[in-house]
Amino acid sequence: MNDSSPLSILSGPATASAIDLYARPSPDFEAKLDATIELLKAVAEDHAGRIVQATSLGAEDMVVTDLLARLGLDIAIGTLETGALHAETVALIPRLEQRYGLQVEIHRPREEQVVHFVRSNGADAMYRSIELRKGCCQIRKMEPLARMLEGRTAWITGLRREQSSNRGTVSFVETDGNGRTKLNPLADWTWNDVWHYIAQHDVPYNPLHDQFMPSIGCAPCTRAIAVGEDFRAGRWWWEDEAAKECGLHVQQAEPAAA
Ligand code: SF4
Repeated sequence: MNDSSPLSILSGPATASAIDLYARPSPDFEAKLDATIELLKAVAEDHAGRIVQATSLGAEDMVVTDLLARLGLDIAIGTLETGALHAETVALIPRLEQRYGLQVEIHRPREEQVVHFVRSNGADAMYRSIELRKGCCQIRKMEPLARMLEGRTAWITGLRREQSSNRGTVSFVETDGNGRTKLNPLADWTWNDVWHYIAQHDVPYNPLHDQFMPSIGCAPCTRAIAVGEDFRAGRWWWEDEAAKECGLHVQQAEPAAA
């Protein structure tokens, strides 16, 4: 087990931050960073005015936002405020707006759909079946994402190959199920690279990362991980590994936004 393993979380001092625990660059970090910058510049030019970074406000996405701001690229920043996020996650939005002097597009689910779903299925529906969990993700994430991507020809994510077996073959550039360019500029970055960059540039990050939550989603569907668990073990932990995607990064045509 190397230092990037979740196991190393609990081998550090109890008060250690994620930076203390993880910030160690790969030997080829500078080359990866250069390649990431070139990729971002190229896609910003190719899709000028029609591209958005869909940020989950996780550590990887904060790195991407920092790079976009640092490079002065004309790329919108959008996030999905599902109505079920941790307060710490929501608080990051004004923090990054202040830090970088930009405005984050906030896309929320349609209230009537959420109310209807919760009335019909209960607030804890996601724990009862994969269908209900995906139904909740559809309303709170997929439909707002479709609105975020409307009129856009490209989007940027913080996906990395190391995050899970489902993401092990992520490409730097792909075409999503709707023909848009999907850029994953950190595809080959390690978790240690991400935290090295955050430390180097004093990037704001979610304090929940310091509480053994490497992957943070909605509050009801995220827990801290324990010794030996995988990076995304704290997401939808009651489901099989193969089902652990909310649909945002599964190749499929998006639902109608209306
Ligand atoms: S992650 Fe959980 S709370 Fe969030 S949309 Fe999906 S099922 Fe609902």
